[in-house]
Amino acid sequence: MSSDTSRNQLPEIESSVPGTASLALAGRLARVESRNVTFRSPDSPIFWTRAAGSNVWDADGNRYVDLTAGFGVAAVGHAHPRVLRAVRDQAARLQHGMGDVHPPEVKVRLLEALADRAPYSDPRIVLGVTGSEAVEIALKTACLSTGKPGALAFRGAYHGLGYGALGVTDRALFRAPFETQLNPHTVWAEYPDPYRPSERLLEAAARGGYSPGMAARDMEPGRLVDAALELAAELLDSEAGERVGAVIVEPVQGRGGEIVPPPGFLTGLLDLCRERGLLLICDEIFTGFGRTGSWFGSEAEGVIPDILCVGKALTGGMPISACIGSADIMDAWPDSTGEAMHTTTFLGHPIACAAALAAIRVIEEEGLVERAHLAGQRWREELLDMAQHYPVVGDVRGRGLMIGLDLVADPETRQPDPDLAGRVLVEALRRGWILLTGGPHGNVLSLTPPLNIDNGLLSGAVDMLDEVFTDLESD
Ligand code: PMP
Repeated sequence: MSSDTSRNQLPEIESSVPGTASLALAGRLARVESRNVTFRSPDSPIFWTRAAGSNVWDADGNRYVDLTAGFGVAAVGHAHPRVLRAVRDQAARLQHGMGDVHPPEVKVRLLEALADRAPYSDPRIVLGVTGSEAVEIALKTACLSTGKPGALAFRGAYHGLGYGALGVTDRALFRAPFETQLNPHTVWAEYPDPYRPSERLLEAAARGGYSPGMAARDMEPGRLVDAALELAAELLDSEAGERVGAVIVEPVQGRGGEIVPPPGFLTGLLDLCRERGLLLICDEIFTGFGRTGSWFGSEAEGVIPDILCVGKALTGGMPISACIGSADIMDAWPDSTGEAMHTTTFLGHPIACAAALAAIRVIEEEGLVERAHLAGQRWREELLDMAQHYPVVGDVRGRGLMIGLDLVADPETRQPDPDLAGRVLVEALRRGWILLTGGPHGNVLSLTPPLNIDNGLLSGAVDMLDEVFTDLESD
């Protein structure tokens, strides 16, 4: 991998953060955008005007390092030269086609490229625009294939906010007002979160011989997985489970707080599905395309799900997603009779297809999957070393370049500390580092930088966090 220093520069902050230009834009935005969309405070947001590699510039001319890769999209870095060239060339030739009627030629090439990389001998693909849509195509496929309307989803799951995807997303804030409109056939299982296992999981583990007096942290990972699988099996075998046709799971929970299930979980889920004739849907929208150090997150356990959902990193920066499965599953969709049962105006958008083709090549040719694995390992160790000095960092976890720092008010009880996470976020931004908070409590610092970010910047991020934690400690 070539490291381009001009696209991997340390931050340069020349104004207050946010500066006057960003503050003015925030004021203008508030007058035209619905108030729920962009969170505004005296500390946020900054308005992006330009990005290259791991760097982002704001309206005040400040340069930042993007430790989020723009929600995990810019895996190849922002505006990678090859992606940029592909976008420019495609835009000059054909900007928009008729996706499911008279498709753009480049759609064929993208589907072939995805098919070549999918873990199926005879794959079939439906393209979407957003991650949420890819999930909904998967859920529709499962319904058509099994004839069953429900899915088993996991606590802490994030699959998107369209009505279908929201039906399997576990966030009270997003669901509550719309609860009566969401799929009533979803059943909820426990994700084996090794750091903060749920009460239900602990109870299930107790039934299996684990002593409830034991601290949760002492539970063997294998026992946690067994307990999670037992609970999932109970649900599937219950009356509500009769209406369930699919299990949908993130190989590593992303917005749920970078939660890595112990080994054996995905294989166990696949077994549960096989025994009952259910489909396993892996939502790889965050974990796919190298993020976790393998091409797909499910590969880490050698699991081939029935259906794969991908998005985000697929293009390096254009909106496109895909639902991929083998022909025997995907052929649950009937032949088109002239009206596609699932399509959108922008299906197979040519510029996004061209960007995806370029991004896939960059990931391969720059060895970014391996790079995510190695850089992630090294970075996690550095972060762990730093975290040892700060008991408020309860856990450093993740896989590849998908890392979470779980901030706690008390390391004994592991009580989440979202306020602290928010303060770290603000202090990091002031120093020129963009991060996000995640997890159901909002207490996890979520780090998902471009896969080709410079090692120097990764170490710089650790130094920055070290400084921020020290400063906050002395406050
Ligand atoms: N699934 C997962 C695992 C995600 O992380 C996300 C987005 N964070 C989605 C689905 C939804 O994707 P989108 O926001 O593009 O609809």
